Amino acid sequence: MKRLSRLSIGMRLTLWYLAIFLLAEFIFGAGMWFILRKNLYDIADATLEGQAADLERFLDARKNASAAQLQAEISADYKIERSEDCVQISDANGNSIYRSTFLDEHPLPHFTLDQLSKPRYQTRRLGKEPFRILSERMEVDGRVFLVQIGSTLDEEIETLDAFRKYLLMFAPVLLLAASAVGYWLSRKALAPVDALARTARTISGHNLSSRLEQLHTGDELQRLSDTLNEMLARIESAFLRVTEFTADASHELRTPIALIHTEAELALRRSRNESEYREALRHILLEAERTATLIDELLTLARADSGGEALAIQPLDLLATVRESASKWNQVATLRNLQFEERLGPQSLTVMGDESALRRVIDILLDNAFKYTIPPGKITLSTEEKNGRAVVSVEDTGIGIAAEDQARIFERFYRVDKARSRALGGAGLGLAIAQWIVQLHKGSITVNSEPGGGSVFRVEIPTTSAAVRVDAASK
Ligand code: ADP
Repeated sequence: MKRLSRLSIGMRLTLWYLAIFLLAEFIFGAGMWFILRKNLYDIADATLEGQAADLERFLDARKNASAAQLQAEISADYKIERSEDCVQISDANGNSIYRSTFLDEHPLPHFTLDQLSKPRYQTRRLGKEPFRILSERMEVDGRVFLVQIGSTLDEEIETLDAFRKYLLMFAPVLLLAASAVGYWLSRKALAPVDALARTARTISGHNLSSRLEQLHTGDELQRLSDTLNEMLARIESAFLRVTEFTADASHELRTPIALIHTEAELALRRSRNESEYREALRHILLEAERTATLIDELLTLARADSGGEALAIQPLDLLATVRESASKWNQVATLRNLQFEERLGPQSLTVMGDESALRRVIDILLDNAFKYTIPPGKITLSTEEKNGRAVVSVEDTGIGIAAEDQARIFERFYRVDKARSRALGGAGLGLAIAQWIVQLHKGSITVNSEPGGGSVFRVEIPTTSAAVRVDAASK
């Protein structure tokens, strides 16, 4: 099927080429034929004109002759000298003075003198033969004659016929040669496309690193191969990301499941009292909850990748969202012996956003700040409006992050201290999710930190008026 459609392009190009060639050949042939005919007729007309001039001289030499004398002389002269000619002479009243015998059976077209204000040339068939006929009003010394002279077009027609014969003979040869050249050209033009298609067909999920042959033709084909190679590179990196994500996700899921398994196995190994069973079940429950959270995060990112996660973006007061989020962290602070300060301002911060998604971002940042700060540390949550952007900062006096890790903490599954994060219930997905959400809000998320010196995470989102400007600019 694929092969057929490729051939059909080649065939279609050839057919188009042939059709155009055929048309050009026809127009050229017909044009040449008409030009040749016109030239031949012009020559015939010039000959007739010469004969008419001869006749005029003849009549002029006998200007005093009576009609009867004239008739006799012309008859005698023309009959003898020009018996093959076709001549007819009448006087002004239409009375015949002379007529070639040939015309007795093949009459010439009839004209009145009025119709011959200028000489007329016609092509007519007299009997079986084509003739060129000159009809002319001739005035000799005040006497008016109607003269008609004909000349056979035998030779001209023969020449034209021969020309047509050669044209028809060579046209198919030319056409055949043209179709061969056309087909060869189309094959040559399509050969690189064919080669690209052959290579492309061999590329699958197992050899996504292969590339199509690089063309250096500087034309559309090079653009096509370059574009396809760029597309392959994008597909390869997306494919790698998905493979890595699946491997990491499976790995992360294995740990809590193994823990649940071990905990239950140990509890069942011998009989235990109620509090020991309770303790085992509490551990199992904790791991189950962490697993559920992990699955929830994985699902969020999977939906983010597929582009299927639709946010309900609408105008909202970010300050109200932050306040709501902060309220539940006060309690956590007390429990963990940490200080939690809120510096919220101004009155309101209207942004275009999805409330639950933005609350999730703030929760992720606060959760991290609480996780990575050792008591009695301090966490500060502040908001402000700066240059048309709503800014939410989460500052802690925690363990901090080394410069080389700061660039990577937004990557999926990246944790500075795996064991520590895992013990604190993190899989390294929180900041990746936060970054994705913030980017969907046309905002940015940044970190400023020093090991042992605490960290500041800063989220910036355009406020409503700025959001409208960003939207208009991106259209
Ligand atoms: P996790 O669930 O492990 O916290 P995140 O994506 O939220 O995953 O964070 C990635 C890593 O960044 C964490 O494992 C931790 O090492 C580091 N990190 C994030 N926030 C902080 C913070 N406030 N202080 C110190 N390290 C942090």
